[in-house]
Amino acid sequence: MNILVSSCLLGLDCRYCAGSSYSESVAALSKSHTLIPVCPEQMGGLPTPRAPLERADGKVVDKDGRDFTAPMEKGAGEVLKVANLLSCTHAITKSKSPSCGCGIIYDGTFSRHLIEGNGVMTQRLLDAGIEVTDENHLSRYL
Ligand code: SF4
Repeated sequence: MNILVSSCLLGLDCRYCAGSSYSESVAALSKSHTLIPVCPEQMGGLPTPRAPLERADGKVVDKDGRDFTAPMEKGAGEVLKVANLLSCTHAITKSKSPSCGCGIIYDGTFSRHLIEGNGVMTQRLLDAGIEVTDENHLSRYL
């Protein structure tokens, strides 16, 4: 199966801090699936390193309130192009991220408070009918 995966989970240093969120469990799935790394924030044109971002009131902002919604939407669209090109029906994404979070994200106050919600890319993939889970819910792939 071709599975889209948040690049940082596979060890790419694409996080806002220029580090990764490497997950041995996710990487191990490469033995039985084709994993396709995507980072919507980089693909939307944002630099690395970059300011941490959160979703707030329908936008994506940094802690000073600067609006990064446009590149986030652009990156989500680019990932969807990859999904369509490679007929991906599944994705594994990084939890809590304003782009990749699935089911739970930070609330936009930059206080580490979590709320229900999806990242921008995750929502775009779900809307397109792609099954999305985060790195903490891998059982269906094992
Ligand atoms: Fe990882 Fe997604 Fe953030 Fe890129 S946008 S660093 S893939 S969580």
